[in-house]
Parts: sequence; structure tokens; C-alpha cells
Amino acid sequence: PLAGRTAIVTGSTSGIGLGIARALADAGAAILLNGFGDAKAIDELVQELSTSAGVKVVHCPADMSKPAEIAGMFDFAADKLGGGVDILVNNAGIQHVAAIEDFPIEKWDAIIAINLSAVFHATRAALPGMKARKWGRIVNIASAHGLVASPFKSAYVAAKHGVLGFTKTTALEGAEFGITANAICPGYVWTPLVEKQIDDQARTHGIDREAVIRDVMLAPQAAKRFTTVEEIGALALLLCGPNGQSFNGAALPIDNGWTAR
Ligand code: NAD
Repeated sequence: PLAGRTAIVTGSTSGIGLGIARALADAGAAILLNGFGDAKAIDELVQELSTSAGVKVVHCPADMSKPAEIAGMFDFAADKLGGGVDILVNNAGIQHVAAIEDFPIEKWDAIIAINLSAVFHATRAALPGMKARKWGRIVNIASAHGLVASPFKSAYVAAKHGVLGFTKTTALEGAEFGITANAICPGYVWTPLVEKQIDDQARTHGIDREAVIRDVMLAPQAAKRFTTVEEIGALALLLCGPNGQSFNGAALPIDNGWTAR
């Protein structure tokens, strides 16, 4: 369904972004991967994804905390993939956990820059081409923490709430040009990062993995399971495909009942 489309997925060298990039590539879109990591591993990933999906795949290492590099990523996409960017998935994000009065100022600034301001800078760069071609899909990866808060995650919660507001404004400005903008709000998603946290928490709390999952990590979720990156990829694909056009300005929880409370 996405043959002939070009997609940028920020923060797609691992985790959710990679899951979304795979889903869009399998549906036929050319992909610009973005994110950090070992150069050789990223090269192998570009090859593997391109071969398995049969689409053009390139990697751009732009740092989402730097507005000039975000603008440069769009020039890179035009140069390497040709045509314009039809689909923008703003996924790159970081976390820091500390009480407000102890929250390092540079961590606050970095989280606002990467999790919120980068969504503005990338959307700003994507909209002129989408408007000219009268078609565009913008998918912002927010979080259950875009809808509700947890203690000690002030910057992350503020940024993700901000993403939902920005998504609504983007939806209103893009609607008459055939552009939609929506936010996905996952609960806990099974990524390598999360898996590593389980072992660390099990050691520090002196409890087993099951107890960490049930009593520590997934305590706020009604169903004590992790969402998979494939499930998030499938939802992103729905929003970008032909059955997604009436979703606009929505914040879609995919959180095993977390925000139903
Ligand atoms: P991850 O750490 O596995 O992946 C993050 C990606 O972003 C990596 O590719 C990394 O290289 C990239 N990245 C980090 N800083 C960057 C920067 N400055 N510039 C460019 N790329 C950068 O994380 P994930 O769990 O896959 O999270 C992806 C998104 O999903 C984030 O926005 C996160 O807030 C959100 N999210 C995650 C969960 C979860 O449980 N994993 C839940 C809700 C929301």
C-alpha cells in the first residue's frame, strides 16, 4: 500500500523506531533510518532491511537535538531517495528519572529538545513538500506519559504532553492539504532497553524477573504484558495506509489499559 512513498523514521536504529521502519518498508515505502549506534551494525541493518523488504533504505545520523541537522536530514533524503518525504515518523526520544528539585538542567533541556522541539523542527521541514503534493502522514510517538504522569519523569511527561498539543495543531493546519497528524501513546513496549532494565531491577530489588515485570514495571497497566514493536509498527502502518485517512489529531493509547484508570 505504500509503494512509491518515502518515509523518514527518526530514532530508528533500535526499538520502536526500527519496528515502525520495518512495517513501512514491508508495505513498500523507501526508508530513511536515523539514530545512533555502531557504524558496522547500522550498515548491516540498512542492507538487511533493504533486501528483506525490497525497498531503498539509507541511514542519516542527524542528531535530533540540533535543528540544523534535522533540516539537513531532509536535504539528505531528497538527495539519496529522490522526491519528497511523504511520511514522517517522529520517534527519537530519551528519558531521565529524578525528582524535580534534583533534575539536572541539561537533562531537562536535552529531553525537551529531542522529545518535543525535534518534532516541531522535522514537521516544519516536512510540511511544504507534503502541502505541495497534497498528501502527507505524520506519526508522532508520544507515550501513555503524554496522557497521564508518573513521579520523577517531569521532563519526559512535559515533553510528551507537549507532543499531543503539537500533533493537534499540525492536524488542523494540514487537513485541507490531505495531510494527517496523529500521536501513538504506548504503555511499556518490549525493547532491548527495557529487557536490560528488567535484569538490573531484579538485581537491585533482589526479586525475580516476573516480580519486576508485574510489581515494578507494569504496575500501572491493567494487563501485565509488554506491547511489542511489531504491534506499534502495525498501528503506524494503519495510520499511513488507505484505511488511516480519517484519523487526524488523535492521541491513540496502545497501553494495555494503563490510561483507562
Ligand atoms: P530506544 O532507546 O530503543 O531507541 C531510541 C532511538 O532514538 C535509537 O535509535 C537512538 O539512537 C535514537 N536517538 C536517541 N537520541 C537521539 C538523537 N539525539 N538524535 C537522533 N536519534 C536519537 O527507545 P524506544 O523504547 O524504542 O523509544 C522510542 C520512542 O518511543 C521514544 O520517543 C520513547 O519515548 C517512546 N516510548 C517508548 C516506550 C517503551 O516502553 N519503550 C513507551 C512509550 C513511548
